[in-house]
Amino acid sequence: MERSEEVQAKLSASKLEASSLCPAFFQASKKFAWNGDRDSASEGTIRHENEENQVPLEDIDDDERRKCAYRSRVALAECREKVFGDKVGIVAREARYWYEDLWSGQLDYMETLGVNVLIADYKTLHGSHTPAPQNVQLLAQAVLVIKNHPEIENVYAVLIEPFNDPTYTTVKYSRKYLEEKAMWLEEVAKRAYSDNPDQVAGSKQCKWCSALYVCPTARTAMVEILNK
Ligand code: SF4
Repeated sequence: MERSEEVQAKLSASKLEASSLCPAFFQASKKFAWNGDRDSASEGTIRHENEENQVPLEDIDDDERRKCAYRSRVALAECREKVFGDKVGIVAREARYWYEDLWSGQLDYMETLGVNVLIADYKTLHGSHTPAPQNVQLLAQAVLVIKNHPEIENVYAVLIEPFNDPTYTTVKYSRKYLEEKAMWLEEVAKRAYSDNPDQVAGSKQCKWCSALYVCPTARTAMVEILNK
């Protein structure tokens, strides 16, 4: 799925954590082509599309992809039941929302019922991710929900990692909490768009930065680590 130019020109929820750690991350990443692994991203897209389209398990030929879909669906079903019981809300998959013109995010799964919403983000490849309570991408997605849905009071968010143990982690946010965090994310975004933002090296942000191989700050940090 190609991202539109409008989306690519701005921050996304998935880039806000790195941008909070290094204000230069966004502009630096845009200046240089990504030299890292592309196969993983393509595989992740296929697995996301299986969930977006709810492809029947028997139609998924590849064993790992089928396992991914099965475990993701079991995890989501458990979370849905905890939040909604046997009630069914309005479901949207891959909805994109904007926070003014500052940043956007695409929600893998969203189910709304009254003042409550359940959102889910799938991490469909192996490897572990920051659990839901500390996950900035999930927080940013929850902020997008309250920004665009004034009726919502509670956001239940789940990070689904089908190849991890446990296969999901959860967090519940109140509107008040998210409104406070929205102010912080606004500052992060404005700093990222400012002239000559600071470079702050660190493993979490630099490993996803396309400028890593030319960045003097990252190089200095690496040399310091090697000389310790
Ligand atoms: S390589 Fe690291 S320090 Fe340099 S701009 Fe990218 S994230 Fe910032």
